[in-house]
Amino acid sequence: MKCKRCKAPAEVELRQHNAGFCRSCFIFYFQRQVERAIAKERMFTPDEAVLIAVSGGKDSLALWDVLVTLGYRTTGLHLSLGIGEYSDHSTAKTVAFASARDLPLIIVPLADEGLAVPEIASLTRRPACSACGTMKRHYFDQLAIDRGFPVVATGHNLDDEAARLLGNVMHWQMEHLARQRPVLEPTHERFVRKVKPLYRCSEYEAAVYAFFRGIDYIVDECPNAVGATQLVYKDMLNRLEAASPGSKLTFVQEFLNTARPALAPASAAPPQTCEGCGMPSYGALCGFCRLVRETQSRRERRRAAERA
Ligand code: AMP
Ligand code: ZN
Repeated sequence: MKCKRCKAPAEVELRQHNAGFCRSCFIFYFQRQVERAIAKERMFTPDEAVLIAVSGGKDSLALWDVLVTLGYRTTGLHLSLGIGEYSDHSTAKTVAFASARDLPLIIVPLADEGLAVPEIASLTRRPACSACGTMKRHYFDQLAIDRGFPVVATGHNLDDEAARLLGNVMHWQMEHLARQRPVLEPTHERFVRKVKPLYRCSEYEAAVYAFFRGIDYIVDECPNAVGATQLVYKDMLNRLEAASPGSKLTFVQEFLNTARPALAPASAAPPQTCEGCGMPSYGALCGFCRLVRETQSRRERRRAAERA
C-alpha cells in the first residue's frame, strides 16, 4: 500500500478512511484532523490560553503535542490521583513530557491533601470511578477559573465518545445525550468551556501518532477500570468496526449531525453556587464538597473508633 499524500510506502493503514500514510504524512494528517475539529466546532482561538488536562496516557499527551505544534498557548493540568503505582507512573510520564519540552504544568497531588481516590472511595463506599470523576470535574473547573483559562481541553477520543454514546443510548439517558457534544459552553460564571479536540480521532490513531512522535506514555489501564462497562462497549464497537470500517465515526458523527439537534435542549435550570467552595452546584453543596465532607467525617469516626 502507498501513502495517499506522497505515494511513498505506507506505514499505517486507516481502514475507516480507506487510506494509507507514510510516517510524516500521517503526522500531518493527524494534526490537520485536530486543527479542523478545533476550527469547525469553534473550540478556541489562537488568542485563548488553553488548560489541557493530561493523564500521562497517549491521548492527552498526543493532544498536547499537537496543540503545541499548531502554536496554541497551553498549560498542562495533572491530578495525581493516589492510585498506587499506576498514579506514580502517570505523574512521572506527564512531568517528563512537560520538562523535556519546557511546557508549563500544574500538578495537584490529591494524596497530599488527604484525598487519594482509593481512600475516598473506601471511606464513602462509592465506586472509585465515580469518586475519581467528581474530583476531576471539580479541579478542572476550579483551576481553570482561578488561573484565568477560558477553556479546558481533554484527550477524549473517538472510541471514548462512541462508547459513551452507546452507553447513553442503551439506557436512553436523554439528558446525557443532549449534553454529549465536543464543545460544552459554560452554564455558570465559575464554569469554563470544555472541549474534546480528539473526538474524531480513534484510539488507534492517537497511539500511532504518539509512537511516531516518540512520546513516552503510560500504557497500563487504570486498575479501577478493569471490568468497567465502558470497556465492554469499546470491545463491542471494535468488533463492529472490524466488520464494517468507519462504524464508530459514523455512529458519533451522525448522532451529532442528525440525532442530537432533534433532542430537547439539556434542562434549562442553571446550577446554583456551592456554599462550601463557590463552584457551581445542584443543591447547597456541590458534589465535590459533599464527597470531601463525608470523607472527613468518616475518617474522624474511624480514628475515634480506633482510639476507643
Ligand atoms: P479517562 O477518563 O481516563 O479516559 O481520561 C479522559 C481524559 O481526562 C484524558 O484524556 C485527560 O484529558 C483527562 N484526565 C484523565 N485523568 C487525568 C488526570 N489524572 N489528570 C488530568 N487529566 C486527566
Ligand atoms: Zn463545593
